[in-house]
Amino acid sequence: MQFIDLKAQQERIREGLERRILNVLDHGRFILGPEVFELEEKLAQYVGVKHCISCSSGTDALLMPLMALEVGPGDAVFVPSFTFVASAEVIVLLGATPVFVDIDPRTFNIDPRALEATIEAFLSQSEGARARGIIAVNLFGQPADYEEINDIASRYGLFVIEDAAQSFGAEYRGKKSGALAPIAATSFFPAKPLGCYGDGGAVFCSDDDLAEKLCSIRQHGQGTNKYDNVRVGINGRFDTLQAAVLLEKLAIFDEERKLRNEVAGRYAQGLAGKVTVPEVRSDRSSVWAQYSVLSDAREDCLSRLKTAGIPAAIYYPKPLHLQEAYACADSLRGALQVTEDIAQRIFSLPMHPYLSEEDQARIIQSI
Ligand SMILES: *Cc1c(COP(=O)(O)O)cnc(C)c1O
Repeated sequence: MQFIDLKAQQERIREGLERRILNVLDHGRFILGPEVFELEEKLAQYVGVKHCISCSSGTDALLMPLMALEVGPGDAVFVPSFTFVASAEVIVLLGATPVFVDIDPRTFNIDPRALEATIEAFLSQSEGARARGIIAVNLFGQPADYEEINDIASRYGLFVIEDAAQSFGAEYRGKKSGALAPIAATSFFPAKPLGCYGDGGAVFCSDDDLAEKLCSIRQHGQGTNKYDNVRVGINGRFDTLQAAVLLEKLAIFDEERKLRNEVAGRYAQGLAGKVTVPEVRSDRSSVWAQYSVLSDAREDCLSRLKTAGIPAAIYYPKPLHLQEAYACADSLRGALQVTEDIAQRIFSLPMHPYLSEEDQARIIQSI
């Protein structure tokens, strides 16, 4: 059994993939070739925003907008601690400071009340540091509370970036993830809901100036041409071959989204009362990047699964505010109680569109 079965998907679309890859080999435009722009157009349309700027990874999709907003030393950005490291890493890379915020125990997403309290505490204590923005993460595929988050941001004059690395395809109040804040970043890492065969990502926005800056940053800060550099940028381009792969995968993505939901539904039914199953709020949907449950007997559950040959994982065993590299560690221990409690009890089960009912029954039985 696979934790995420990419083989089953590949078998299904293999012919189309080969055709598209061969086509790229023939035309030879490996950097910013026609597939990249075709994909960007399709993704922007899918999400419902004006611009999609593809790039080299989900991490760069977070980094580039922070660069465009000129985030740097002396700036503070509010971010959950219970997330993949990249959400905070990009802040530190630019010399700014991440200020960690606690999560909602049922959705595992940033808690708007904790966010406001953390901003207030920061503003009353910070000497010289400037509150700049919020990176909200849609953990495991479910959008965070954007109405509340965007409202807090506008009251405090902060930007909002939607970390949609795990949530491409999810919906919130009739809108698609990627369109829930003025800027969104997603990832095409192979294991994400829409993944390519390498690294990749994209930024979504509807602001023309910002889109232009992002395109420039993606190409070493280029101005009118490659050898005119108007700002400091990065090599953040997305490969044509990967765009070709994604075009093929996008064609079956909505069907896969439906299949993921069915898998989640069967888990919820079979596991109710045995572990705490994830809660998706009624005004939104998840794309189930991970199916994560809570149990006080986590070690027991994990060892039973292991004995049965069922792969499982812990996302995330150590919150960012307790990581050595995010050095506030000791001073913050105990500060984010919900985050620290959830990290002790959470684990994730196999989740992909091709998980069979028989395999699922076995997983449920083992737990
Ligand atoms: C995967 C992920 C990223 C980074 O994406 P990469 O493509 O791996 O660079 C950022 N944030 C979250 C929440 C992620 O899960």
